[in-house]
Amino acid sequence: MNEPLPTKVVAAVQALESPASAWIYDPAQLTARLAAVRAALPEWTVLYAMKACANPAIVAAAAAAADGIECASGGELAAARAAGAARLAFSGPAKTPADLRAAADSPVPLCVHVESVRELDLLAAAGFAGPVALRVNRGRALPGSHRMAGAPTPFGMDEADAAAAADRALDLGLDLAGFHLHAVSNCLDAAAYAAHALEALAWSQRAAAGRFALRYVNVGGGLGADPRGDVIDLDALAGALGGAAGRFRAAGVEPVVEPGRYLAAPAGWYAAEVVDVKTVGGQAFAVVRGGTHHFRLPAAWGYAHPFRIVPGPREGGVLTDVEVRVCGELCTPRDVLNGGQWVSSIGAGDRLVFADAGAYGWEISHDRFLGHPGPDLVVID
Ligand SMILES: *Cc1c(COP(=O)(O)O)cnc(C)c1O
Repeated sequence: MNEPLPTKVVAAVQALESPASAWIYDPAQLTARLAAVRAALPEWTVLYAMKACANPAIVAAAAAAADGIECASGGELAAARAAGAARLAFSGPAKTPADLRAAADSPVPLCVHVESVRELDLLAAAGFAGPVALRVNRGRALPGSHRMAGAPTPFGMDEADAAAAADRALDLGLDLAGFHLHAVSNCLDAAAYAAHALEALAWSQRAAAGRFALRYVNVGGGLGADPRGDVIDLDALAGALGGAAGRFRAAGVEPVVEPGRYLAAPAGWYAAEVVDVKTVGGQAFAVVRGGTHHFRLPAAWGYAHPFRIVPGPREGGVLTDVEVRVCGELCTPRDVLNGGQWVSSIGAGDRLVFADAGAYGWEISHDRFLGHPGPDLVVID
């Protein structure tokens, strides 16, 4: 987080028209993270959960370098196919019959992560012939930012219903391959994540025993990459997993992990130009062209996203040696990207750059609010 901005990012920021407001993506950063995951977890199939960042260049890089793309809507399925994905997984708790028909017609291999017993019936009605995995909400809650399982959530089916669901899938003639046990987001604790993955593998084996031949266990995403800088320790994760995945693979069971955040976070920067500075009630403010309607994560999570300044030709006053609050252009006091960061100087014309912002940045934002123009979307290589 304290590293200087890459030169090519600075160049891209400087090349923006004023007043600048842009998302800048570098697919090579995602490719590098993917290589690190593959090196640490060589026995695992790695899918990219594209909801973390759906920029077409990012998805195309993931399609080329990962084993496949995990999608959570019909729209994502179409985008992943357009990006050249060789393999797809399809999750999401509210799939429509049209979504399931699209899955049935997929020209590339596709596994459906089934979220309920009703969805099994809809899938069979759609004529889906590919592999299915039952998404089960089970296990202990993991440390992380969003708990999807181990707590009541609308994701997946109750553990108590899993056996009946497996029987139903088999009765319907579906190709039941295994289980999907996504549990958490942004888990920074390698030992806890490894325990989740090992437990998911062992539970799946028990749940399938005597019912069907287990071939697929997807432990979900959730590898941590916190926007404030921490990342999960992949070496510690690999060490704690030991040789378990290799043993399962040798026994015909494919272990699958599907990170989004960890892969996409370093691949995106949000840049916004300061259009005004002022002091109100003793607080220094920098107001930017853009804000949380382009980059909602700091407001959604309630943290201050660190920024660096690419100095511009300044106009008007300059604030010096001050803790500045960075606010956007929206007419709401919640439009805050950073509640207070010390700067040696800041003025209108400076461009603020928020690194490690690629995951759940532009994708989760509410840009229709107030009708400002959208950000530029820039891809660098
Ligand atoms: C969001 C999601 C992921 C990715 O989660 P990250 O925390 O970004 O790694 C993986 N699988 C499913 C089913 C998801 O909903």
